[in-house]
Formats: sequence, structure tokens, C-alpha cells
Amino acid sequence: MNTNIKKINRVYSPTTPHFVGDGFRVHNFIPAEVSMEDMDPFVMLDYNSKYYFTPSERPRGVGSHPHRGFETVTIAYKGKVEHADSSGGGGVIGEGDVQWMTAASGVMHKEYHQKDWSLEGGDFHMVQLWVNLPAKYKMSSPKYQAIANENINKFILKNETGSQVGHVEVIAGEYQGVKGSATTFSPINLFNLELKANNKNSFAFPAEYATALVVIEGQIKVNDEEVKVDHFVHFQKEGEVITIEALEDSVVLVMSGEPLNEPIAAYGPFVMNTEEEIKDALEDLYSGRFGNIKE
Ligand code: MN
Repeated sequence: MNTNIKKINRVYSPTTPHFVGDGFRVHNFIPAEVSMEDMDPFVMLDYNSKYYFTPSERPRGVGSHPHRGFETVTIAYKGKVEHADSSGGGGVIGEGDVQWMTAASGVMHKEYHQKDWSLEGGDFHMVQLWVNLPAKYKMSSPKYQAIANENINKFILKNETGSQVGHVEVIAGEYQGVKGSATTFSPINLFNLELKANNKNSFAFPAEYATALVVIEGQIKVNDEEVKVDHFVHFQKEGEVITIEALEDSVVLVMSGEPLNEPIAAYGPFVMNTEEEIKDALEDLYSGRFGNIKE
């Protein structure tokens, strides 16, 4: 009997979905269900549960918009996203890939279904997680970490007889000595778990960290409580160890981060520390200092 269990605070069913632009049909978990203060350093989590988009000659998505003060992490499970930004950067986030974009002092970008994918249509399944930046990095230079699936460091999970029963994609942080592929500005663990049915694994995170998971595919038991697909599990701060048993072949996204414990002033696409900094961001936006995207 492990006495250091990190208990579930609450299991949330997905919120009523809404569209971001016309290309992302999302259930918001943070801050709609769990506040950004309770999930600090995670300030936003939009979950596009698996959704079929009909073929379209005009790629659906969200047009030119700014970000400042945090990072956007896009994890593509199904479908492809094409992005372009004001620095001339751009690329495609393919199935299984992760894009870790540090908006920091500011980017102007657009996010659309990739053109050829859009022509075919299909199931679209995606996560966008916003990770707050410590105050001292909010106005640092923007950057991208485009992490193709084959470059995500993986830990192979095995059962007692040595058979492979899944793997942990260590997007950020560390699991069993395997370091995350992305670098972060504060301690964060972001793991994508692919689990074969009827196997149980444990994960430990420091007690003070904000910890949650999303069931992307399948059905699992978390500390012996059944959790269905598309549900969000928020854990208590106390305790360290969570146990995940896959009842079916499952995919689970687990996040755990050390709180920044800094004031949060959030307004639309800006997450800063003070209202004054939000005003500055709006002024910079209206005066064109976020730049423009070349078409
Ligand atoms: Mn964006």
C-alpha cells in the first residue's frame, strides 16, 4: 500500500465545445473547469476531441492573431496544422508531432488545417496547452521548437515478464531518466502515454506541482477510479504517485508543473503579470509592433 498517493481532486467531463476560428472545435478545460491559479503554470487548455471535418478547398482555421507572455504547445493526434508567423517562420504540425512555441515578447501568427489535408478532410484531434512564462522571460525573444514524433524521446514500458506494454513520450521534463525533447523555462513534465490494455503504470510528481491528465483515447483507471475518453482529471497537490491502468488500448496526456506563484493578468491572447503590461500589449498590437504575416 503506497501511502504517498496523489489523490484525484475531481474528474471533469468535457465542456460544451466551441469553435476557435472555424478550424478548431474545442472543449476548454483550463480555465473553464479548473482555474489558471489552480493549474499554475498552465493557463489554458483547449481540447479538440476527435471531430470529422468535411473536405474543404479553403483550409479552415484561425486567422492572424497575436500572443505575448507565454508559450503555446500544440499536440496533433489526428490531422495536420499549418502555421505561419510575422517573423517569416512557418511549418506543418503533422500527426504525432508537437510544436512548442515560445511567444514571449510577441508573435503574430495564423493556424490553419494543412492545405492537402483540408482537401481530403478527416478526423481532427488536437490539444493546445498554454504554459505561462516566468515574469523575467515574458519579454524575451520568441522561438519555436518543432518536434517531429520520431524526435520525441521515449521510455518503453514493460510488464513483469518483459513484454512491451506501451511507451511514454517525454515531451518535456523527465521520466525514468529519459529527458524531455522540449526545453522549458520552468520545471514542467509533459508526457504522452500510449498504453496497451490491461496494464498498470505509476508516475510520480513533486507534491507541490499542479498535475492533471486528459484521456485522449480509450478508457483508464486512475488510482482505481474509472475515467472515460475525453475526460480531464485534476489531482490534489498533496501526494506524489498516480497509478494509471489502461482498460483498453489508451492514449493519455499527463501534465505536471511547478507553480510560478506570480500575479496573472490575462486578457485574450496575452498573459502578463500586471494590467499595465496588458495595456502595453494592446498598444503594441494596435500600433503594429507585433508585425504582419506575409501572405
Ligand atoms: Mn495562436
